[in-house]
Amino acid sequence: MSDNTKGRIHSFQSLGTVDGPGIRFVAFLQGCPLRCSCCHNPDTWEFGAGTEYTATEVVSRAIRYKSYFGSDGGITLSGGEPLMQSEFCLEIFRLCHKEGINTCLDTSGCILDESTKKLLSETDRVLLDIKYTDEDGYRKFVGNTTLSDTLDFLAYLDSKSVPTTIRQVIITGINDSEESIRKLSEISKAHKCVDKIELLPFRKICKVKYDNMKREFPFASIPEPSPELMQRLNSILGN
Ligand code: SF4
Repeated sequence: MSDNTKGRIHSFQSLGTVDGPGIRFVAFLQGCPLRCSCCHNPDTWEFGAGTEYTATEVVSRAIRYKSYFGSDGGITLSGGEPLMQSEFCLEIFRLCHKEGINTCLDTSGCILDESTKKLLSETDRVLLDIKYTDEDGYRKFVGNTTLSDTLDFLAYLDSKSVPTTIRQVIITGINDSEESIRKLSEISKAHKCVDKIELLPFRKICKVKYDNMKREFPFASIPEPSPELMQRLNSILGN
């Protein structure tokens, strides 16, 4: 591996404020093996699409925004599923650390192999998507991974004390019950590495992407959760 390690990227966001602490440079990696029914980035699914970059090129872009990062910000690798290009991500994070840039990984936690473990050793924070708190939800609305895989990943993060934010997209009528949120809270409390849970409201603005791809948006008929519902669920978590 070298700083010329190459990978495929869907897009960049220069100054993101929702994917990790502070102000962040976000790279959305191309390719995802999952098929979440709520996915708002179906255009990141296809492997081999996107644009090829070297790790150095990605880090050079991030460095341009370094003065905005302050003490909390840095780089976030999102997707798609970054774990599908873990060597590329590792090289980006190594180079970022040489530059004093904080590193954050937004992932479903679907792969925990040696390459992932190396990547996690250079990761300052993980944003772990726990999509549902039961296997049934994963089976029906995700595919190609399970709750148990995700919890194994979380257990590993805990064993290595990697600061972790748990995230869940709230989908009306599917994972918006108090019981489900309480389960999420229990999972969080059982892992010392978790210091935050973020509930994100399901949004349908991505429907146009499905239309352009001539694919059906599986959750097209599900209403977006109301601010009142989000507030109620957040209050269960003490957010
Ligand atoms: S893991 Fe993320 S990118 Fe992949 S299908 Fe699910 S929501 Fe979409």
